[in-house]
Amino acid sequence: MSFEMIDLPYEQNALEPYISANTMSYHYGKHYKTYIDNLNKLIVGTKFEKMSLEEIIGESAKKPEYASIFNNAAQAWNHEFFWNSMSPNGGGEPITELKDMIVRDFGSVEKFKEEFKAAAVSQFGSGWAWLVEDAGKLKIMKTGNADTPLAHGLRPILTVDVWEHAYYLDYQNRRADFVSAFLEHLINW
Ligand code: MN
Repeated sequence: MSFEMIDLPYEQNALEPYISANTMSYHYGKHYKTYIDNLNKLIVGTKFEKMSLEEIIGESAKKPEYASIFNNAAQAWNHEFFWNSMSPNGGGEPITELKDMIVRDFGSVEKFKEEFKAAAVSQFGSGWAWLVEDAGKLKIMKTGNADTPLAHGLRPILTVDVWEHAYYLDYQNRRADFVSAFLEHLINW
């Protein structure tokens, strides 16, 4: 099977002024597209050809001989999850059920935001920050490069992309400002 790009759930300029249409056109139209295109080339004639994205991630994770397939499949999945982790009407308070869990596991929504931001800012080099569920408990984690909670048996709930391509055109080196904008204005609870 050949993978196709998912549609963005909003227009490329819908997240302005926090993420510009220019950033989205490169991020969605070039970076994300390249992961999908590369994956489609890499799986031709392999056992991965008939698998879902999640199955490819599970089968290729932690296997050096499949590193390229894992990297491209995981980046395709991570980006699709990231597009849906944002909304033009994002920010504000979490929906009630999630808010209750956040208060239970982090103390308060503010405390969650502080810890999430610290994880996103401290991820050295390229990667992702995540809110995940681990056996019924919410946790924050960060992953490097293409790594994804799916490869660790955890259920992702929200993510922010902290590769420089996600924010450099709009924020240059100010990753913390980008993460704050994500948390305050874009996060899709
Ligand atoms: Mn990205």
